[in-house]
Amino acid sequence: MAYETAAPMLPAPSGDTLAKFAAIVGEKYAVSDADAQGQEPFLTEWRRLYKGRTPLILRPGSTEEVSRILALAHETGTAIVPQGGNTGLTGAQIPFQHEVLVSLGRMNRIRSRDPRGNSMVVEAGVTLAAAQKAAEEIDRLFPLSIGSEGSCQIGGNLATNAGGLQVLAYGNARAQVLGLEVVLADGRVWDGLRALRKDNTGYDLRDLFIGSEGTLGIITAAVLRVLPRPKSKATAFVGFTALEQAARFFDLALEMSAGELTAFELMPRIGMEFVLRHAPGSRDPLGTVFPWYALIEVASQREDGAAETAEALLTRGVETELVADAALAASLQQGRDFWHMREAMSEVQLHEGGSIKSDVSVPVADLPEFLRRATDAVLAIMPDCRPVPFGHYGDGNIHFNVSQPVGMDKAAFLARWDDFTGAINAIVLEFGGSISAEHGIGRMKRELLPRVKSPVEMEMMRAIKRAIDPKGILNPGKLL
Ligand SMILES: Cc1cc2nc3c(=O)[nH]c(=O)nc-3n(C[C@H](O)[C@H](O)[C@H](O)COP(=O)(O)OP(=O)(O)OC[C@H]3O[C@@H](n4cnc5c(N)ncnc54)[C@H](O)[C@@H]3O)c2cc1C
Repeated sequence: MAYETAAPMLPAPSGDTLAKFAAIVGEKYAVSDADAQGQEPFLTEWRRLYKGRTPLILRPGSTEEVSRILALAHETGTAIVPQGGNTGLTGAQIPFQHEVLVSLGRMNRIRSRDPRGNSMVVEAGVTLAAAQKAAEEIDRLFPLSIGSEGSCQIGGNLATNAGGLQVLAYGNARAQVLGLEVVLADGRVWDGLRALRKDNTGYDLRDLFIGSEGTLGIITAAVLRVLPRPKSKATAFVGFTALEQAARFFDLALEMSAGELTAFELMPRIGMEFVLRHAPGSRDPLGTVFPWYALIEVASQREDGAAETAEALLTRGVETELVADAALAASLQQGRDFWHMREAMSEVQLHEGGSIKSDVSVPVADLPEFLRRATDAVLAIMPDCRPVPFGHYGDGNIHFNVSQPVGMDKAAFLARWDDFTGAINAIVLEFGGSISAEHGIGRMKRELLPRVKSPVEMEMMRAIKRAIDPKGILNPGKLL
């Protein structure tokens, strides 16, 4: 375990209180610590960095049950950790002592869909993949797309303001939401399920909860914005002889695609090697080895529009000597295979021993310089470590991960976590960037927050927390 956790500040609930909590959802949906196996999937997170502990997991089936849970928590001063699909990467969804965990997975109904109004109302526990499918069934696109979409849930996506693979064209989770239903810390329900595109009637309460990491309320449902589905899509895998070529090709792609470019994902050779080694069914789409690759995707409302744009772009890229080699997917399956290479890149790092993660952003134009300096900085700390910087180049967002040297002891490598992330973050800050572009703060980066936010920003955030959750029962020890 790379991190020990700070103790939550609220007292443990009594046996009597726990029994009252369990009675709200019914015995079948209350998992106590007597059932270690039943609790296990909720307490171990994806990266295995944190191992949680809780006296009780509650799995409510309705907004009313969530409301009763929080009313009781407020009355008894019990700490609560909301959890969606448990795919978060900062430990924010994990209880560490005696917080009661509230898992939203049973609240998975699509409440309504309105193709003419281009919106749908879904409950918090609907998985992202199910939300995408629900939109597709009414011939609409729900454009949020991330590697964990089979498991993560809309409530978690909104609470983390998830980004992902198509932010370049459609924006992050925040941009996909019109309204919210939220249970407040004292159990009151805020019904903000409005499908309005415009509503300037005071403070934007909806935006307050998006990205709040379960510290201000429990999201129980959302009105999601959907879009007409693109009529065509083209996916290409591109090789570059140098990072600067990739950067200049991105500029060209933006210029030529006139809003049709939906993804520009950067990958280093070492990441490709990890995928080829560990991801079943993976194949190098290009015949030659290159130091850098990009997966690009273009979508169009015209039947052949995407292929035309992508072909013109690649031709121009070759003519200008920015593109060394490229493959344009000839079928949907081949496009999926290309995406498989990119999406497997997070997971395969688990198989290469310890991996120190960082999820940062800088202005897009500064990315090449940032990548060079951050690479030099981590190699200066440990010359045989293996930097694996990859990700959402088009958003200026790179997962600057570092894999351990081959053969090194994993624990000894992970013990250097703060040295590596500290060096990377220092460079990020010099570029005016962010130390958490999409994964949030959670437990992992909580101590860093006051170092990167001004005292004014910290005080405003604390004031909001105090006003909405005066007893501090929601996700204590996370974010703030
Ligand atoms: C393979 C992989 C790829 C990933 N790729 C990306 C990516 O490209 N972009 C990206 O942004 N993230 C990515 N992630 C991170 C993660 O999937 C997202 O942060 C996701 O939005 C979390 O959703 P979840 O339902 O799993 O939430 P959880 O992990 O369960 O919870 C995350 C946070 O949200 C809170 N929360 C959950 N549900 C609610 C609710 N209903 N109300 C209030 N608070 C709630 C929790 O308390 C916690 O603070 C990836 C993760 C994995 C494992």
